Amino acid sequence: MAAEPVDLLVIGGGITGAGIARDAALRGIRTALVDQGDFGGATSSHSSRLIHGGLRYLEQGDWHLVREASRERRVLLTIAPHLVHPLAFLFPVYRGARVPPWKLRAGMWLYDLLAGFRNTQRHRWLARKPVARLEPRLRSKGLQGAALYYDAQTDDARLVLATLRSAARAGALVANYAAATSLLKSDGVVRGAVVRDELDGRVHTVRALVVVNATGPWVDRIRASDDPHAKPLLRLTKGAHVAVPRARIGHTHAVTLISPVDGRVMFVLPWGDLSYIGTTDTDEDASPDDVRATGVDVVYLLRSANALFPDARLAPRDVIATWAGLRPLLAPERDVSASRVSREHRVVEAASGLITIAGGKLTTYRVMGRDVTDRVARRLRSLDGRPLPPRPATDRFPLPGGETADLDVLVDALRAREATESLARHLVRRYGSEAAAVLNLVDRDRALGEPIVRGRPDLWAEVVHTVEREMAVRLSDVLIRRLHLFYEDPPRGNAAAPLVAARMARLLDWDEARREEEVAAYAAEVKRARAFLREVPRTSSAGGA
Ligand SMILES: Cc1cc2nc3c(=O)[nH]c(=O)nc-3n(C[C@H](O)[C@H](O)[C@H](O)COP(=O)(O)OP(=O)(O)OC[C@H]3O[C@@H](n4cnc5c(N)ncnc54)[C@H](O)[C@@H]3O)c2cc1C
Repeated sequence: MAAEPVDLLVIGGGITGAGIARDAALRGIRTALVDQGDFGGATSSHSSRLIHGGLRYLEQGDWHLVREASRERRVLLTIAPHLVHPLAFLFPVYRGARVPPWKLRAGMWLYDLLAGFRNTQRHRWLARKPVARLEPRLRSKGLQGAALYYDAQTDDARLVLATLRSAARAGALVANYAAATSLLKSDGVVRGAVVRDELDGRVHTVRALVVVNATGPWVDRIRASDDPHAKPLLRLTKGAHVAVPRARIGHTHAVTLISPVDGRVMFVLPWGDLSYIGTTDTDEDASPDDVRATGVDVVYLLRSANALFPDARLAPRDVIATWAGLRPLLAPERDVSASRVSREHRVVEAASGLITIAGGKLTTYRVMGRDVTDRVARRLRSLDGRPLPPRPATDRFPLPGGETADLDVLVDALRAREATESLARHLVRRYGSEAAAVLNLVDRDRALGEPIVRGRPDLWAEVVHTVEREMAVRLSDVLIRRLHLFYEDPPRGNAAAPLVAARMARLLDWDEARREEEVAAYAAEVKRARAFLREVPRTSSAGGA
């Protein structure tokens, strides 16, 4: 990308930057994208992993957002059926709770209405007994009934990767571990950026007609480097999650709950053998470079879940994994609590021409990408008179792996190649129609068909696949964001880390020192995610509220 000027340079390879790069490249705009870390390595891999209309935004009267997000839920279920899955939610109501049954029932109708009654299924209202049958371990005292409704769940990090790979297929040049260290300016106009390769330290100049700042929680930092007097756009709020063994809670549905600790809406969500509980929503002054779940976050989340599932008796030592991120939300005009800050997005142009996108959600990234690219296209037309390219059908082109909606067909095709049912399902859920390409690697080298750790489905072939086709260049890229061992089975992930590093060393030509460095860096990430343990009393039971 440094070889010749591009039309558009996108700074930031989270879901927002990825959506812009995809839309722009599909319009034929010559696009480059850089991220200072791994793609999706920041907020976009630390979300609640929901593609949702956002039931709780109804309370704030944010109907426009709910309608837009509901439409996007339908789009993403279509263009990435392997990565976005419908999920049934149960929202129980208790006597004396902040949200009475009539209000929830009205909200549910509105939720279906704003989705044009085209959600995967319509909601149903369940009386006390059917609720107890569906989720017997849910607190029964004071239970008045529950709404059964539908949203969708995704693998957030993989959604970013798939979107970026779609952009790259359309011609975008994308680089991870490439930090924009300063903006190139002449005559007060931004004309590109100085980009440092974070792996080898080399510095490059990327020249571009238009630069977009899509750096999520860092957008104000980039804006300040352009104009020290630029008014901050964001109000950052932190959200943390904890993952615990699902058997401890014993739920089958996703459960929406009102935390008895502070009355906030939160979720207990299934993820294979795990459940994750989230999220917190607190104002945060810490730098986006240094966000993690603290002991206070963990205790709050466990107390909230324990109050609804009293038999779970979750304590901090039960926590398998944690993650936290900063929501890059638009600063509201007036003072409101963190969880009431709007999730809408805004595109802002500075006098220098720098375009910044702030706010938004994972769910609405495609719309955000479209809005920014409309601006970029208009700017390019005013700069060199080129015609406005038509908007591409980003709502219909499947993301890589999403070409086949019927996942069972893909599973059957893998079964015909002697994959077991569970392996076939695992590969299809992760790679969609590209799962066959992963198995092709095994045809080349039978040893790649072995699991990385006993008892888990992840194959050695996946390490090769992620390095060769998903731009994994560091050990943590593979173990955290592409294979998720970091979240799903940390002890075995730790044990496998040196072996995975050895395999990557062969693929990426690492010397001994680099291999050791990668293992140490990964171990440091694991330690950070468990730092909360030092902040809670060892005997803490995080009992119900
Ligand atoms: C706890 C939590 C839960 C959430 N849950 C949901 C949910 O369930 N559903 C939903 O729809 N939304 C959810 N969201 C919101 C959603 O995750 C975010 O809106 C979205 O991920 C933001 O993406 P982004 O690309 O703007 O930011 P990021 O993902 O943070 O990406 C910005 C990127 O810019 C890069 N960058 C920064 N500075 C530079 C530089 N100088 N040079 C190069 N690169 C740079 C960073 O490395 C980073 O990768 C949640 C958010 C949080 C925090």
